[in-house]
Parts: sequence; structure tokens; C-alpha cells
Amino acid sequence: PPVFRAEALTKTYRTGEVEVQALRAVDFEATAGEFVVILGPSGSGKSTFLNIIGGLDTPSSGRACFMDQEITKLDDRGLTRYRRDHVGFVFQFYNLMPSLTARENVRLVTEIARRPMKAEEALEMVGLAQRIDHFPAQLSGGEQQRVAIARAIAKNPEVLLCDEPMGALDPATGVKVLEALMRVNEVTGATTLVITHNAAIQDLAHRVVRFGNGAILGVETNARRKAPS
Ligand code: ADP
Ligand code: ADP
Repeated sequence: PPVFRAEALTKTYRTGEVEVQALRAVDFEATAGEFVVILGPSGSGKSTFLNIIGGLDTPSSGRACFMDQEITKLDDRGLTRYRRDHVGFVFQFYNLMPSLTARENVRLVTEIARRPMKAEEALEMVGLAQRIDHFPAQLSGGEQQRVAIARAIAKNPEVLLCDEPMGALDPATGVKVLEALMRVNEVTGATTLVITHNAAIQDLAHRVVRFGNGAILGVETNARRKAPS
């Protein structure tokens, strides 16, 4: 059964006189444990799509469901609860608290989560067992991003949404971040969607979705990496 289902999602932004059609009737489904990569040129609607299914934004029309729940019907409180309980986010910039260690940054989340894992467990999962008591300034960009991934996954969300998580990193460092995401996906079974410009990542995904001009232009299933079902 799908974890997510989006039906005919559209989003129109208005700035003064100007209207931008960010999404045009997007349909999408993801199953439990899937690792999906989202590709497409800048401005093609990838972030808008991710933000809507993550409950950070609402569509102009269409619906999005998470399990049995129609998230596009939720009010602000419902959306806040949905994000808190079910969704982990990773963005291009890590937004770690500079005055807190890696462990303390992750604990900010585990302390308020419903069914968290231990901060140490999350940090070990992303390969940072040796960096648990380091401060962000003592970590490389890739390591800081892995702390951010540990923070996103420590609450045990069903869904992990990543918007250009390698965008600020050089390719070699980006690969390590990608490997951390794949490991998290395998260990926790969280359905993982990753927006990226890095074409190398395609081979590792279960499925690749290509956006263009606010629509999904194509979906490819990776014959060499079968999604769990
Ligand atoms: P992508 O993630 O593929 O780069 P986005 O979803 O960020 O694309 O943007 C899709 C389109 O919507 C772009 O034309 C962008 O300029 C526009 N857009 C995105 N967010 C806003 C906003 N808050 N206000 C106005 N236009 C926006
Ligand atoms: P290509 O575009 O040829 O697939 P990459 O995606 O690896 O190559 O990107 C080339 C360089 O640009 C890398 O250092 C990568 O980390 C960086 N990069 C990619 N996307 C972004 C982005 N959105 N913002 C900033 N840097 C990026």
C-alpha cells in the first residue's frame, strides 16, 4: 500500500500581477521503504512538491494523502502535528545550533518525539560515532549534514524528505552524505525522497522521478535495485 498518494496537485503562486504555475496536476505514489530521487531543472516545481507532501505548504488544488490521512485537509495544528510525528526534513543548509554538540543537537528532537531512538544510535547510523561530542564548528560540511540527517531520523519518522542535501557539498563529500541517507533508509525503512542535481545518485535509487515545468515528465524504476514491497 502507498505511504503517500498525491492526486492532481497544483500550485499557483501570485506575486503582484505575476502568476507562476509551480505545479500542474502532479500525480505521485510512494510505497513504504522506497528510496526515490527527484531530478529536474531549477524552477521545475521539485521543492514545491516536497513542501506540500511534507505539510510545509498547501496546494491550490488537488489532494495529498499520508497513509489513511488526507493531509491537504488538515488545519495548521494538524499539519504541525503531522510534520512533528511523521516527517523528517533535510535541507541544503544544516541549521545546527552552534553552541550544542552533535549529540545535543539531535537530542533537541528526541526529547519531544513520540517514539525516538537514542541520539547516539542516530549518529552511529550516519557514521558519526566518533564525533558525538563535537561542536558543529569542529565538523566538516559533510559531517554537519550527517548530524542534520541524524536529527531528522532520530524521531523515527515514516518519511524522510531531503531538498538538495548535497547541494552545498563537493561531489566526494556528497557521496558520503548520500551513503548515510541510503543506510538510514535501509535500517529504518523510512520512505525517502531526495531532490538532487547530482546525476550519480540515480543508480542508487529505487525510482527516479523527473520534473519539468511543474509536471512529472517521467518515472524510471531501477531494475538493479528493487524497492521493498
Ligand atoms: P525547484 O525546486 O524545482 O527549483 P520550486 O518548486 O522551488 O522549483 O519553484 C517552482 C516555481 O515556483 C518557480 O518558478 C519558482 O520561482 C516559483 N516559486 C516557488 N516558491 C515561490 C514563492 N514562495 N512565491 C512565488 N513563486 C515561487
Ligand atoms: P552535475 O551538475 O554535473 O551533475 P553535481 O551535481 O555533482 O554535478 O554538481 C557539481 C557541483 O555543484 C558540486 O560541487 C555540487 O555539490 C554543486 N551543486 C550541485 N547542486 C547545487 C546547488 N543547488 N547549490 C549549490 N551547489 C550545488
